Amino acid sequence: MEKNKQNKISSIKERNTPIRTALLEILSKIKKPLTTQELLLILAKKEIKANKTTIYRQLESLKENNMVNEVHFNDRNTRYELNSKDTHHHHLICKKCKKIEDITLLEDLQYQEKMILKKSKFKVTQHFLEFFGLCKNCQK
Ligand SMILES: [Zn+2]
Ligand SMILES: [Zn+2]
Repeated sequence: MEKNKQNKISSIKERNTPIRTALLEILSKIKKPLTTQELLLILAKKEIKANKTTIYRQLESLKENNMVNEVHFNDRNTRYELNSKDTHHHHLICKKCKKIEDITLLEDLQYQEKMILKKSKFKVTQHFLEFFGLCKNCQK
């Protein structure tokens, strides 16, 4: 993790609840998008008491503070990951072993977003794009 982000986390930590701090720590350690359900299980293992509503509220507030990103895959779950503003990326999701990898695209979707603005006069402020398939191992 770059120093920048670490400072950001620790400065916010001061006014953080234990749950909020724990959530940030988990997300920075695990480095993949997690559902509230998965976060609950990890917190329980750490013997931190929390319920879904508390976690959801904390995550929403972290989102507002640009500390976490929401990620959507091909299911009903919302997942959360630590926000690294300088590294906008997408995900490669293996349908067989469920492994998730980050991927940064060259030029990303800037061209398409420009075209959308041109054609539809629609100003894109955010996009989600995830790739589903088979990882190297699962292709064997
Ligand atoms: Zn796989
Ligand atoms: Zn993108």
